[in-house]
Amino acid sequence: MAGGNAIRGTRVGAGPMGESERGESAPRQRIAFFCANGHETTPSFAAGADQPDQWDCPRCGLPAGRDREAPPAAPSIEPYKTHLAYVRERRSDADGAALLDEALANLKAKRGR
Ligand SMILES: [Zn+2]
Repeated sequence: MAGGNAIRGTRVGAGPMGESERGESAPRQRIAFFCANGHETTPSFAAGADQPDQWDCPRCGLPAGRDREAPPAAPSIEPYKTHLAYVRERRSDADGAALLDEALANLKAKRGR
């Protein structure tokens, strides 16, 4: 049970920083973004605020642009993301075991027996 639970637990209870308090009455503007897979998403922005040229497609995660005819090219990060997610999932357990092994090995080495 010597995993990363203590570290993970420090974030429990941390929430969004009161974003809902703001912008209730501010005029908002919907901007359409199009991704390479043909998805359209229309997030809303406060009128007058800087609007991004790109937006992450909420359906497939690809960058979406404001030009329907020329969506941004899909970067080849899909395998990387999957791999990273896989590593993150396993990380705490694997690291815990590795650290434990290393600690035991060091202990044995120091004792010299
Ligand atoms: Zn998409």
